[in-house]
Amino acid sequence: MGHSNARQSAVSSVNAWKADGHPPVVEKPMTEYYGCNVFSDKVMQERLPDKVYKALCETIRKGAPLDPTVADSVAEAMKEWAIEKGATHYTHWFQPMTGLTAEKHDSFLAPNFGGPAVLEFSGGELVRGEPDASSFPSGGIRATFEARGYTAWDPTSPAFILENPNGTTLCIPTAFCSWTGEALDKKTPLLRSIEALSKQAVRVLKLFGSTSTTVSTTAGPEQEYFLIDKAFYHARPDLINAGRTLFGSKPPKGQEMEDHYFGAIPDRVLSCMLETEQELYKLGVPVKTRHNEVAPAQYEVAPIFENANIATDHNMLVMETMKRVADRYGLKLLLHEKPFAGVNGSGKHLNWSMSDDQGNNLLKPGNNPHDNAQFLVFLAAVISAVSKHGDLLRMAVATPANDHRLGANEAPPAIISIFLGDMLQDIVEQIEAGGAKSTKAGGTMTIGVTAMPTLPRDAGDRNRTSPFAFTGNKFEFRAVGSSQSIAGPQVVLNTIVAEALDNIATTLEAGMKAGKDLNSEIQALLPKIIAESKKVIFNGNGYSAEWHAEAAKRGLPNVPNAVDSIPDLISPKAVALFGKYGVLSERELHSRYEILLENYVKTINIEAGLTSEIATRQILPASLRYQTEVAQSVAALKGAGVAVPASQSGLLADLTATIDGLKSAIDKLDHASEHHAEGDTLTHAKYYRDTIIPAMNAVREAADKLEGIVADDLWPLPTYQEMLFIK
Ligand code: ADP
Ligand code: MG
Repeated sequence: MGHSNARQSAVSSVNAWKADGHPPVVEKPMTEYYGCNVFSDKVMQERLPDKVYKALCETIRKGAPLDPTVADSVAEAMKEWAIEKGATHYTHWFQPMTGLTAEKHDSFLAPNFGGPAVLEFSGGELVRGEPDASSFPSGGIRATFEARGYTAWDPTSPAFILENPNGTTLCIPTAFCSWTGEALDKKTPLLRSIEALSKQAVRVLKLFGSTSTTVSTTAGPEQEYFLIDKAFYHARPDLINAGRTLFGSKPPKGQEMEDHYFGAIPDRVLSCMLETEQELYKLGVPVKTRHNEVAPAQYEVAPIFENANIATDHNMLVMETMKRVADRYGLKLLLHEKPFAGVNGSGKHLNWSMSDDQGNNLLKPGNNPHDNAQFLVFLAAVISAVSKHGDLLRMAVATPANDHRLGANEAPPAIISIFLGDMLQDIVEQIEAGGAKSTKAGGTMTIGVTAMPTLPRDAGDRNRTSPFAFTGNKFEFRAVGSSQSIAGPQVVLNTIVAEALDNIATTLEAGMKAGKDLNSEIQALLPKIIAESKKVIFNGNGYSAEWHAEAAKRGLPNVPNAVDSIPDLISPKAVALFGKYGVLSERELHSRYEILLENYVKTINIEAGLTSEIATRQILPASLRYQTEVAQSVAALKGAGVAVPASQSGLLADLTATIDGLKSAIDKLDHASEHHAEGDTLTHAKYYRDTIIPAMNAVREAADKLEGIVADDLWPLPTYQEMLFIK
């Protein structure tokens, strides 16, 4: 009869893919186009009147309020620059709590009754936008009368041009707030947390004689992702609608040969990467490294670190640009944390540090006793912060998608611990012991007197199993999910470290007032901090069962799923912390709590619907067809008077039983989905976790078993083997 199903057409179209038709690559040297689509400092200096430029710099560096005439002048220059670049429209580009970016385009065109076209863009339009945008999640903040939000220009992140073959758009990074001043986005709390940390870090630096007036946080997110052929993607309703496969048995060949990691990048993928990078360079995004990751069809891109706000905007641009360009190469970008069960998932290692206003990295050990002392104080602050608020860091990565990844074999467990490495561990232990013990390198450690031994920075000392690792001059938070905005994790990190620095500064300042010596004050304070916090330090294998037992003994929280972690966002401890540093009010925290839980419920609900639909309309029919074929062949044997071998009647029986299992699992899932749990969002989320997910898993189990039995030519969904290995 020869059915041609979506899967078979997909396989043929992958084979037919040709490299022509995509836009030609830029042939100029990179230095000629790097940043060409950015309204950068250099462009501003060239195009703005001197006075305006200086005023704007004050705003950018110190947050000084912006004069409306300055805004007008900047808007005029920005408009002219954008129009020269072919822009017809501008948009306030913002990051609502969907975790994505949003834009609403307005034309520069102004009414000019009957006359020629006039293009306008005022300071007012630059500084504030009113996208309305009342359909974004607000977690109840905008439920009623104050339904509108407005966008406010963030002059600390440069405007840029987004290109399209048919025109370009000026994008202005903005914050998104309600009229009552509440943050409706990811950028606003990030900016507040950066400021909170800066304020406390400056107090500490001052004790060391620094004249820095601001401290910035720095971020370098290593982004993992999958690329698969578009034809396969389109034949998988689960990938299209849920971003991950809800069915698929493990292929005979997975990643066990480890032949993909750092392997040669396939040509089509490399072309796609090159074009992505060119686009990103034009936007001034400093992507630096690219390589194959552990799983087949998995890759990674990492930028050179930048200040946290810009790094966050840039990571959003990286994700969007990769998605856009992949399409031109017949590829689909998968940013989901676990697109394929049983295969490595994708994360985003968030490299994080702090830097003074001369660009000195505050987590760099330094090479003299004074710098070492300062380093140890900042290090102790981070250790103390993570020890006290590990629950919040865990919460910052709590999504239904990340639940598939955390604690699975290739990703850090849900237990937040810190890896320091042997040398630093040794130093910390000595400090706790009051400098009495001798170091591994020989001698004893006296703060402000002894220089620390040089810490190794080689990869050998890196513990890949730790969720939060010190890697020589920065921390690396490895539990962040690949599709997540890095804003949330940084908000937590910045705020908890601000609190720890605040406590340290308060103690040390009091000592200074009482005329004591700074180094001996530090020598007295650090052992206390370490004694209090050392339970969070763990240098061993984070994947091991022993660590789970040990962590429980140490009283470290181990919250393996998002639903149990999200409520930590509104604990009294969290409300006090975020309130004290002006990062998120109680109302703002509650809105985020609601949004996270709603997102959990919606995600699982969509997955459950897809599971039922695909199982009912694709897998069951294919299985029944095969059942008919087998039944017919058994009947034919009987008709010919041939004894039916047990293996063949057994196949029919097995098939029939598995199909029956599938159908009853679908019925059970449908029944569970129709049930409406009474209660608040948390109750709903728990219902989805405890009842719907197991029901989905039962459907998948039967379906994946059928994939191993049903004839290949009848199977409707592209298999793991095809999606991961046909490139
Ligand atoms: P590895 O890839 O071995 O983890 P790298 O030194 O290449 O180590 O760093 C990975 C990421 O960390 C890069 O994006 C890099 O820019 C970033 N990074 C380096 N130093 C800092 C820092 N001080 N603050 C934030 N990120 C940093
Ligand atoms: Mg790394």
